[in-house]
Amino acid sequence: MSMLHSVETNLEELQKNIREVCENIDRSPAEIKIIAVTKYVSNDRAEEAVLSGVKHLGENRDDGLLKKWELLSDKAIWHFIGTLQTKKVKKIIDKVDYIHSLDRESLAEEIHKRSDKPVKCFIQVNISGEDSKHGLSKEKVMGFVYMLENHSRIQVVGLMTMAPHTEDETVIRQCFRELKSLQVQIQHLNLPYAPCKELSMGMSNDYRIAIEEGATFIRIGSALVGNEQ
Ligand SMILES: *Cc1c(COP(=O)(O)O)cnc(C)c1O
Repeated sequence: MSMLHSVETNLEELQKNIREVCENIDRSPAEIKIIAVTKYVSNDRAEEAVLSGVKHLGENRDDGLLKKWELLSDKAIWHFIGTLQTKKVKKIIDKVDYIHSLDRESLAEEIHKRSDKPVKCFIQVNISGEDSKHGLSKEKVMGFVYMLENHSRIQVVGLMTMAPHTEDETVIRQCFRELKSLQVQIQHLNLPYAPCKELSMGMSNDYRIAIEEGATFIRIGSALVGNEQ
């Protein structure tokens, strides 16, 4: 569908929509950072995104990230957005700027061990409670944040979630709203290792709702770079 269009055209459309949503709710579009999710597309298409002005690229697999990184390394800010196997951490840790899928202590330990500098992490929360989704249950998030104090190279920049697969906007909105509420709670703890100001939520189908509910990073694949699969 979007493959008929250049990334530039899709980006203009996306930015127009973001501006419209922001106008209605009195947010500045500058608060919303767009991550182009390139997991479905070729290196060339990822490069096209960068040339069109996209600054953030997201991949959900270590091999996909490495392929694109080899081509574009210092031309983008790199986000790892998928489930991260502990044994894969060392392959990607020097390449990524953000990890969106911190969801267990063993992963925190491995990141801490393999990195020589603080790593910007989002804690992934499974708000909807769907079995198919990764992430911590919301009840476990606060305890997890406190536990991270012992892992000095983890910096909790924010929370991430994926909304449930549903057409029901109310359900999606509720999910984003609960993530925002948790984010604010953690921010108010004023923990030096957990500024927790960011919210990574919203994909091609639900980014408008996510922005209305406070998203600061939206992760857009199909609607921006397309889906070649
Ligand atoms: C694939 C993916 C996206 C982007 O999905 P689209 O619906 O194509 O925009 C966003 N976040 C995560 C974690 C993903 O795996």
